[in-house]
Amino acid sequence: MSSSENSWLLEGDLLEPGGVSRERLRICADSGTILERGDLPGDPDVVWPEGNFVCPGFIDIHVHCRDDPSGEHRYKEDFLSSSQAAIQGGVVLLGDMPNNPIPPSNQLDYQKKRDLANEVGLVDIVLHGLVTPEGDCFSSKIPWKCYFGPSVGEIDSWGDQGVTEVLQNYRGERVTFHAEDPPMLIAAQNAETHEKRRPPEAEVAAIDTILKVCRELDISAHIAHLSTGEGLRRIERARAEGQSVTTEVTPHHLAFDMENRHEWKCGEWLQMNPPLRTPWDREVLMEGLLNGSIDVLATDHAPHSVEENRQGISGVPQLDTFGAFVCQLAAEGFPWETLVTRASTRPAELFDPFVEGTFGQLKPGAVASLTIVDPKQPWTLERSAVRSRSGWSPFEGRPFPGQILETVVRGKRYDPASTAKRS
Ligand SMILES: [Zn+2]
Repeated sequence: MSSSENSWLLEGDLLEPGGVSRERLRICADSGTILERGDLPGDPDVVWPEGNFVCPGFIDIHVHCRDDPSGEHRYKEDFLSSSQAAIQGGVVLLGDMPNNPIPPSNQLDYQKKRDLANEVGLVDIVLHGLVTPEGDCFSSKIPWKCYFGPSVGEIDSWGDQGVTEVLQNYRGERVTFHAEDPPMLIAAQNAETHEKRRPPEAEVAAIDTILKVCRELDISAHIAHLSTGEGLRRIERARAEGQSVTTEVTPHHLAFDMENRHEWKCGEWLQMNPPLRTPWDREVLMEGLLNGSIDVLATDHAPHSVEENRQGISGVPQLDTFGAFVCQLAAEGFPWETLVTRASTRPAELFDPFVEGTFGQLKPGAVASLTIVDPKQPWTLERSAVRSRSGWSPFEGRPFPGQILETVVRGKRYDPASTAKRS
């Protein structure tokens, strides 16, 4: 086995979907990969005490970093500030969404955004390409994002026919969908609350259309930020019939609902698309994440300025608290083996075609991107410590039962509190 000078030795409780075992990892700082694993000789450089978990790095597949070559939205966030929020949240790899002022909907604009992310980002970043009515499917090596509702590049010709027309250029690709039926949103646009203007039926109807069209076109559909129990039933049914479809749930749809929102300090800012639903929906989503019919936890981190949130814009920042929220789920009864699957192993599988190296595993040859967790050391995020440029968090001031101790990105150790490099 090679044991280069630039390697370091870690000892700890390694957590994977199969369970926990106390072992050592030799990590190469140059290649950023795991060289060896097991009962390795030598003095460890880092020893994590028993009860802390060394996890394959957490992955958040749904993030709005807001950055692009125009720089127009950098007052909300950029690739550096979102990376710092990710490191605080224990996230080593994130999936950035394409609703930018210069949308990555063609090869040239995509490449410019790619270069920017490579230059500025501190963590691994996968960029989604934007599905547009023009249908320029310029690469098969990236994930795609399709907006049905009002956003950049929304599909304007609605109905099965219109959607099929747009999507037929993306046959065989992986496409993530924002599922809200535009005609139903238009019909409800004058209702008195945000939740009523974006009714649950709009999500369910859009999911039905997506499943039907993607089955016809052999598109591997991923339903973003699932918010309704009925939507999950539709997905489960399609899967039982053999369709390839995956989905995700956000921390806000698991933690908040229309009834409990007012107990929260930032309750009035808990506005997002799709909106908060009923306590029943929240329970069904919790159950779905627990039993695996929801594949992954993903934040839909959607930063705006505090002023914009005050004015009623939709979107909540979530990246800083990703890891702490995983600890919250553990305290609510999720086994840690399940959590590491939903926060690392499964998202790594979904992103495997789009990244360099193997994520989500603690084995020789895999990327040495790790999340170290203390599930029993309480942590509270104060507003002053939020790394996202949005400058607030729906969870600020609320204690979490556990915290992130360190985030390792391709062999480099980061202090989550300062996001400075260690040693
Ligand atoms: Zn989003």
